[in-house]
Amino acid sequence: MFSSSLSGAQAAPPPKTPAALIHRAVATQGGYDANAWWIETPEGVVLIDALMLRSDARALVAAIRSTGKALRAVLITHAHADHFGGLPQVRAAFPGVPIVATRATADGMRTVHEQGLAPNGWLRALGEEYEHTLVTPTQIAQSGDTLRFAGLTFIIRDYGAVESDNNSAIFVPALKAVFTGDLTVHGASFYAGGPDARLALRALPRLRADHPGDVTAYAGHYGPRPLDRTVDDNLAQVRRLHAVTALVGSSPANRTPTGDLTLEAKRLLLLLTAMQTADRADYGVGAVGMARFLVPGLVSSFVSDSARKTPDITQAVRDAMRPLLFLVGRYDIGDITVGPGGLYIDGQVVGAGGYRYHVSFSYDHAQARYRVTSRDETSGLIDVFEGTRDDAGTLTVSNVGPGTHYLDKGAKVFNRMHFVPRADGSWLWRVETGRGDGVWTQGLEQAMVRRPLP
Ligand SMILES: [Zn+2]
Repeated sequence: MFSSSLSGAQAAPPPKTPAALIHRAVATQGGYDANAWWIETPEGVVLIDALMLRSDARALVAAIRSTGKALRAVLITHAHADHFGGLPQVRAAFPGVPIVATRATADGMRTVHEQGLAPNGWLRALGEEYEHTLVTPTQIAQSGDTLRFAGLTFIIRDYGAVESDNNSAIFVPALKAVFTGDLTVHGASFYAGGPDARLALRALPRLRADHPGDVTAYAGHYGPRPLDRTVDDNLAQVRRLHAVTALVGSSPANRTPTGDLTLEAKRLLLLLTAMQTADRADYGVGAVGMARFLVPGLVSSFVSDSARKTPDITQAVRDAMRPLLFLVGRYDIGDITVGPGGLYIDGQVVGAGGYRYHVSFSYDHAQARYRVTSRDETSGLIDVFEGTRDDAGTLTVSNVGPGTHYLDKGAKVFNRMHFVPRADGSWLWRVETGRGDGVWTQGLEQAMVRRPLP
């Protein structure tokens, strides 16, 4: 019985979809780690995006030619030169190949190309590596259009139709693949550049809702990953960046009379943003370069958002948390970042003996005191500390009030911690032990110095 049902399964007709392979061509140095994805089927090749540098485009053309198959179409996801600048080489190698994009992407390509080649323009700085002839799309697609090339169906959806920074996603149902351009990224800092960083918060949930749950996102930079997990990660990144901006910008002292952020506040935001992005791939521009891409859009979305009323309690908590920004950084023993909403500060710390702790700093608005929790990642035990800040800015908390002591041969042992900001931007972490009788003995004292940014 078994063998006959197995042989019956083997006799099933082959799937109607032709076998297709997804290939990746990656930009070399200076090309922002951009991808061109190309799909090979028995009927030909379809290319998604075209890299930028002349030498990268030549290598891409050679790879496609090595298949011996015809290039059936080129689809462009968005109007960034690192994704369309290689089109002249591609068209020269495959004359007459249709080049497809939305109207907004086609228009944006011309703008980016012309601005980049203006005197002091960034594309001019690439010299001979950037082809000065602009090749524009030959076929304009509407959002929602279904196109067929090389035996496959491609569905183009536009996620930035009303904004200048336009981005399409190209869905290939037969491959469970969506080519997302700069709408998503895996393992790197999310690119929330452009005029308004809030747009990502609207576009990413739509992108996820428009596609089945089991598709893989093939982004314009770095490797593929399931779309839903990528969207979750990218949204979390954007929310954290907004939280830092909200925390810095919510102080009147950090705002100009017109509502913009002061230069000093922007510098602080640049540093905090660079630290949040420092452990991710950065398109070859470094953490500070990445922060420079991100901060203008974050500031402008914060400024236009700040006309909206913030609940009093949120404002009060942000006012209490802002002085603790000195804690934020990357250290040899862990990272401390701003939590969502700018309402708490959050860290991972590796202690002596390799013990890992998740540390959170929050403010209890009703009781007017800070609370620090430390969760031991080995036992799950949560220690709770409470306290206040003094005039010098030192935060002092102890676990006497919460009563989360430990026992040493039956005797209760409490801890008190001081977080002491220093003028050079570093801070001291001082831990004391006591019996809960008000007498404290100095234990560990550690200077917390930020790791340099890459
Ligand atoms: Zn890109």
